[in-house]
Amino acid sequence: MQKVGFFKSIQFKFVLIYTLLVLLAMQLIGVYFSDRLEKSNLDSFQKALIFQAENLVYNIGEAMKAADKADERTMRAKVQEQLNEVSGLNEVQVIDNNGIILGTTDQNHLSDIGKQTADPRIRQKLLTLTKPESEIYRNPKTHNRFMVVTLPIKVYNEKRGLLYVEKNLDSVYENLEDVNKILASATVTALVVTALLGFFLARTITKPLLKMREQALAVSQGDFSRRVEHFEDDEIGQLANSFNSMTERLEEANATTEAERRKLRSVLSYMTDGVIATDRNGHVNLINDRSEELLGVYRQNVLGESILKLLKIDNEYTLDDLYESEDSIILDFSTEHEKLLIRANFSSIKKENGMTDGLIAVLHDVTEQEQIDEERREFVANVSHELRTPLTTMKSYLEALADGAMEDEELAKKFLSVTQNETERMIRLVNDLLQLSKLDAKDTAFNIERVNYIAFFEDIIERFELSKTNKLEFIRKLPKRPIYAYIDPDKMTQVIDNIISNAIKYSPEGGTITFKVMVKGGHIVTMIKDQGVGIPKENLSKIFERFYRVDRARSRKLGGTGLGLAIAKEIVAAHGGEIWADSEWNKGTTIYFTLPLKRGDDE
Ligand code: ADP
Repeated sequence: MQKVGFFKSIQFKFVLIYTLLVLLAMQLIGVYFSDRLEKSNLDSFQKALIFQAENLVYNIGEAMKAADKADERTMRAKVQEQLNEVSGLNEVQVIDNNGIILGTTDQNHLSDIGKQTADPRIRQKLLTLTKPESEIYRNPKTHNRFMVVTLPIKVYNEKRGLLYVEKNLDSVYENLEDVNKILASATVTALVVTALLGFFLARTITKPLLKMREQALAVSQGDFSRRVEHFEDDEIGQLANSFNSMTERLEEANATTEAERRKLRSVLSYMTDGVIATDRNGHVNLINDRSEELLGVYRQNVLGESILKLLKIDNEYTLDDLYESEDSIILDFSTEHEKLLIRANFSSIKKENGMTDGLIAVLHDVTEQEQIDEERREFVANVSHELRTPLTTMKSYLEALADGAMEDEELAKKFLSVTQNETERMIRLVNDLLQLSKLDAKDTAFNIERVNYIAFFEDIIERFELSKTNKLEFIRKLPKRPIYAYIDPDKMTQVIDNIISNAIKYSPEGGTITFKVMVKGGHIVTMIKDQGVGIPKENLSKIFERFYRVDRARSRKLGGTGLGLAIAKEIVAAHGGEIWADSEWNKGTTIYFTLPLKRGDDE
């Protein structure tokens, strides 16, 4: 936690303001008090001095009266006599109306007696003075302050001169200085006490504030457990209470957000669709597990990357295209080994003020769907093609008949037989298609029976053996004991018929066809092997697809529709078995299919 500098702290500010206030108050009081004290001291000093001076004036007046008839000398002696009795004053002078000094208390000025006074102020006063006057005078050399009192000396109401009295004011100012000292020390004491009080007062505010600050820091680091301890019920206490309840609310809100986030995270990670979110600039800031899987990337490698780059569409689209796109985009992520088509839908994240704040991309694997669509398109094209060929043939033969071939009986017979064959082939084709569509729609009823499979299989082989036209050898490798299977005999007959007729169709004169049945891993495995033309390895898996024929022209010539093995595959699958082929080009083909064996029927 960063500490607040002492000079910036509230505590310091409090102490500073308090002490300044006290200092100001003390100064004002001090100035006012010492001013008043000075005035009152000077006042009493003046009164006392004037009183003393008046007494002296009276005595001098009396002395002058007594020496009224005597000569100047005697009078001066009388005046000096009075002055000699004066004490406690700095200097007292008696000056007559002509400005002649008649007497002085200052030993240093005794020689001035009988001489004109040199002091211009006294000369001035001689002319104007009618009543006692006082003033403060500062010696410019010694800086000592004096109070000077001047009084007229009157004898029989006639002004005879004046009395000049000078008394040192030091005692007054010393007294004032003492008082000032007391005031200064009181100020210092008050300041110290105020500073201490201010410090403690500030602490009562800063302590809870510091606690709240600590708590706010803890909250920002995700710790909601702390509470500010309860203070008094003042404003700070109420603030602490509000702070505590705010923390509680925050904790609740945080818990809710956290729960929502967890929910969202688990929704996103278990979603079968990929979700990618970006910031305003299209940089990925969220990518779920499914997206990682679909795009084959790791989250830590792509966070912050541009979504255009991530989806490999930076050459075709701009970010604005994605913001505005309403249709989905199909992304081809196919590799050499695997086809992968992803449909991406984009929507923009909007802020409350309507500004775009990012992009959400939802990725959906549409490989299978696209494949199904492709197969469906192919299927429709195949059906149309398969139907068009016989129809075109029939049309041309019928046209030939109409154009006169009817007249030639032999030709007409031949032409009619061709159209008949084509019609039959079309009927076969349509029947096969109908059967397949029923099997697809699971609309075919299976009449399952418990059948001795060996006997059932042998019957079919026998039927072919009797009707076969080319010289083929049939080899049976069948178990002697019966094996029971739960099958729909009609449907399985159709499967086996198709396989055997293929084997016969594609076998050369004199070849062998081997029939084998074995029990393996809970299954009855049937194998029909010929020595015919074979099927190239790369086409092997495709022969069970609808309309797939290795050699289209040859198959058609042999009357095939290209749907036989596709139907066989559906029927075997409906029985819970599997069908596959093994072949070598020009050497022969083996078709295998399995049927499940019920427990206890393997006897
Ligand atoms: P078709 O009616 O053309 O025989 P099928 O679905 O029965 O249709 O067979 C599909 C294709 O598989 C055939 O066109 C043929 O090319 C190939 N095929 C099936 N059985 C054999 C076999 N025993 N020998 C060689 N090719 C075969």
